[in-house]
Amino acid sequence: MNRELQKLARDFALWIADQDENIVELPPEGVLEKTEGRTIPSVNDDKIESDNLPDTTFCQPSEENMQRPSNKELLEKLRQEVLSCRKCGLGQYRLNAVFGVGNPDARLMFVGEGPGFQEDHQGEPFVGRSGQLLDKIMETVLGLKRSDVYIANIVKCHPMKNPETPEAHSNDRPPSPMETNECKDYLEEQIRIIQPVCIVPLGSVAAKFLLKSTEGISVLRGKEYEYDISKIPEIRHRIKIVPTYHPAALLRNPNLKRDTWYDIKLVKAILDSDGR
Ligand code: SF4
Repeated sequence: MNRELQKLARDFALWIADQDENIVELPPEGVLEKTEGRTIPSVNDDKIESDNLPDTTFCQPSEENMQRPSNKELLEKLRQEVLSCRKCGLGQYRLNAVFGVGNPDARLMFVGEGPGFQEDHQGEPFVGRSGQLLDKIMETVLGLKRSDVYIANIVKCHPMKNPETPEAHSNDRPPSPMETNECKDYLEEQIRIIQPVCIVPLGSVAAKFLLKSTEGISVLRGKEYEYDISKIPEIRHRIKIVPTYHPAALLRNPNLKRDTWYDIKLVKAILDSDGR
């Protein structure tokens, strides 16, 4: 019995020694690396056979989930919000909310103060004689069509002097600071989605709003400024602002055309020098 125990102990010791030899056997060169005194397995993609890897496809985001909605989709979602908005008194009397039109990926955005009589009736910004003149300026100086740019207003509903007589002419007025303040998030979101290279505020109200200035358009025009992009953390470029006269002002006073041409040429130079 004692002899059998001794034999078992000897066999066990031999087996242990055999295991130790296998444990200290080094792997092929390159499979171990030393990092700050710690030995870690190196990762060599060439030596990893994909068949041996666990299936992790279940935890990877699908292509569908990784896709950001398109600008068109984002703008449409915002438009639906505007169509049901009644945040300020202008929503009560409007015929149509005038959200904005144009290319959702535009490099150039025009911004007016608010819809007028024609816009309220048609649901589109800058229609009628002012809109036709804007189209002509765009085409002549910039070589662009209305469908190439994006056109919006600060407020999306028609500000009227007397809302009880919506069909009366000469009933348009600029939006009040309270109305502008209620509506400004929509315009800021449009800018955040489109991320244009350049914004052109048309007229004093739009220029003052975008530049946070109290100066009139005749002082502000003729120069380029920068839009405050601190609310757009994902943006990778600066957005220029070039204010100019409202087309309605040009119709009233053709002498302003010369300055307007200068401003729009400045816009062209900005677009031409931008690689986007
Ligand atoms: S003007 Fe703007 S804030 Fe006021 S009701 Fe229309 S969409 Fe809403």
